[in-house]
Amino acid sequence: MKTKLIIITALLLGTMSLQAQRQMVNVPELPGYVTLKCDFHIHTVFSDGNVWPTNRVSEAWRDGLDAIAITDHIEYQPHKQYIPTDHSAAWKIASAMAADNNIILVMGTEITRGMPPGHLNALFITDPDLLATDDFMKVVEAAMAQGAFIHWNHPGWKSQQPDGIPRMYDVHREMIAKGWLHGIEYFNGGEYYPLVMDMCRENKLALIGNSDTHGVISEEYTAPRYSHRPMTLVFAKERTAESLKEALFAGRTAVWYGDNLAAFEEIALPLFRSVITAGAPYKDDGTRIWFELCNSSDIPMKLSGGPEGAPAMLTVPARSMVIVRADRKYLSQPLTYNVDNIITGSDSVLKVEISPAKK
Ligand code: ZN
Repeated sequence: MKTKLIIITALLLGTMSLQAQRQMVNVPELPGYVTLKCDFHIHTVFSDGNVWPTNRVSEAWRDGLDAIAITDHIEYQPHKQYIPTDHSAAWKIASAMAADNNIILVMGTEITRGMPPGHLNALFITDPDLLATDDFMKVVEAAMAQGAFIHWNHPGWKSQQPDGIPRMYDVHREMIAKGWLHGIEYFNGGEYYPLVMDMCRENKLALIGNSDTHGVISEEYTAPRYSHRPMTLVFAKERTAESLKEALFAGRTAVWYGDNLAAFEEIALPLFRSVITAGAPYKDDGTRIWFELCNSSDIPMKLSGGPEGAPAMLTVPARSMVIVRADRKYLSQPLTYNVDNIITGSDSVLKVEISPAKK
């Protein structure tokens, strides 16, 4: 009997330990929207990646993502000798698994050219075969005819732009004029391009951040250096593919990479406010007050440039609380800080005001 029980327990434990676990990701919210965690630049064995499409879905599920796009190169298939050309194979193979796991799978592809125009992802396409032609503008036109959202990838990638500085070329200006370019990668893989903040701001394009993963994602973003893969946060009306697309075209995005968040101020400020809360002063010694500052997100908030009579620097770690001791005058005027890890422009960070809650 005892042996039987031990066997049953061992079997149960065995079953339990086999269960995959999805990471809970706590990211800021934009009031009125849901935050979708997305990676729109992923490769498989059907181009130059080393991973089977269904594994991309399980990786996304484990990483707590809501949506992914598999974007194999149309023009570059180094495994061709072993894997036949089928531009929609990855999508066909992965889509049932995506449905089973509640992952939004966006059909996409990477249009691959030298610079200019460089590499571009076309998302929400319906037939990648129609994009397999030589004339670049004809390819973009065919993608647009399918309702694509098109973003320019790694514009400062040193293989194509040796000084690492992204530059707009005539072809990009022409695309923008025609309404054929909708976003630019500010972050790709492991590098970021500060000037993309200004390019996107000036041309009303969405800020995008992707892994561009080719290998096994858990081997590319390992702890303790990384707590998550880089991703685009999209603020959608609902958690659906249609809402995702609408939000991308509307430019409601932020990029989360390492400990940093890149977003324009009108989005960054409400994001900050959605996760940082100040408590009411719980101690007052007649000259100073004490209050708590909480951060409910996975992103630490690194404050600097504090005012006189308050901490000059203050880091509120992820999912943590710190105590602030400040001059009593801050009962009636806000504390002002820079948030060094919320990037709002090529050389600007978010500025915030913090006031203790009223008693
Ligand atoms: Zn790529």
